[in-house]
Amino acid sequence: MKKKHFNSTALHSDREGKPEHGVLHKPVHPSVAFAYEDARELAEVFQNKRKGFAYGRQNNPTVEALAQKITKMEQGLATVIFGTGMAAIGSTLIALLRQGDHVVSSAFLFGNTNSQFNTFKELGIEVSFVDATDVKNVEAAIQPNTKMVFVETIANPVTQVADLVPIGELCADKNLVYLVDNTMTSPWLFLPVNVNASLVINSLTKYIGGHGNALGGSVTDTGLFDWSEFDNIYDSYKQSDTQQWGITQIRKKGLRDFGAALAPEAAHLISVGSDTLSMRLTKACSNAKAIAEFCEAHPKVRKVFYPGLTDHPQHERAKALFKDFGAILSLELEDSIDCFDFLNALDLVVCSSNLGDNRSLGIPVAHTIYWEMGPERRASMGVADSMVRLSIGIEDTEDLLADLEQALAI
Ligand SMILES: *Cc1c(COP(=O)(O)O)cnc(C)c1O
Repeated sequence: MKKKHFNSTALHSDREGKPEHGVLHKPVHPSVAFAYEDARELAEVFQNKRKGFAYGRQNNPTVEALAQKITKMEQGLATVIFGTGMAAIGSTLIALLRQGDHVVSSAFLFGNTNSQFNTFKELGIEVSFVDATDVKNVEAAIQPNTKMVFVETIANPVTQVADLVPIGELCADKNLVYLVDNTMTSPWLFLPVNVNASLVINSLTKYIGGHGNALGGSVTDTGLFDWSEFDNIYDSYKQSDTQQWGITQIRKKGLRDFGAALAPEAAHLISVGSDTLSMRLTKACSNAKAIAEFCEAHPKVRKVFYPGLTDHPQHERAKALFKDFGAILSLELEDSIDCFDFLNALDLVVCSSNLGDNRSLGIPVAHTIYWEMGPERRASMGVADSMVRLSIGIEDTEDLLADLEQALAI
């Protein structure tokens, strides 16, 4: 049959293989353990000679169904699911890197990722933070011990867009693992496999789950990286075909040993949420664009950060690479309006630290999620004290615009 498009493929992924009891939707399997009538079969599962489940920390049928759905969405080879997005990032780095290795990372990062990378620095893994909106800075930071390059597609809160295509070419040329955090764009707006990413991170908590009711994270191997050329694969994970080496090591050393597994109930919620990813995100993006344009013209707003605005430094890049410009925008307010008063005056937009919910959320970034970072690093990331980040949801556009208008009028 003809290859199907994004939605049809994702929606019907549960029916692949043999649906259990003929059920249409993947059941929730809370069982932690799996019983085998033939002890040899269990041994083969342990030895990676047979597909199967051994213990809930490593895999579970409900979680595996979600993994396969994410793999399809990302057009990848295989996916490992974690309890949160942070667990997916940390477990991947722990599994693949060793003391003395070096990572080149975008300086424009989700706050907790920045904090986590600083922990890795303390443990003997070097990390250089560079302005990844220009490949030249990434290239200049590469050292003989560099193993990996890490970028986010659209960074938050200033919405810088990484130089995704040339960084992919550079990584291919230098044989570096190219790890792309696709959370802000999700596979609906962008497929990192198309820019030569080796591994794709998604915080499932955000757009993929979309309903703010379950945490989750994933790492997808795109199949593009040649793991036989990577020094850090342990001999025990070299049994299968080389394409599987990286993801196997991430599952074993990352998920199994560090144990940040996703609960099957949460996997179910995320999978149901992901059915409507494209519709939700399409609406949220069009709302965000309308709000960005409204705020740009408003005298109380000094600056609007949104890749969909033509004066955004990477507008053309975002237009060329992404299906739409995302649903996150940040405002720098004029001195005449206090960011706390503004947020308190909003009615429909809720003050909350999450993003990617169906409901619109706002937060004073310098005083909350980027507080721990300190003033210097905030300044280097372009985060002003008056900055408010808005994660736009799927409310009716007129109501959101009216809410912004009345809150800016205070
Ligand atoms: C939220 C987020 C994460 C972390 O995800 P959690 O599920 O909250 O742990 C990582 N990267 C980006 C870009 C995020 O927005």
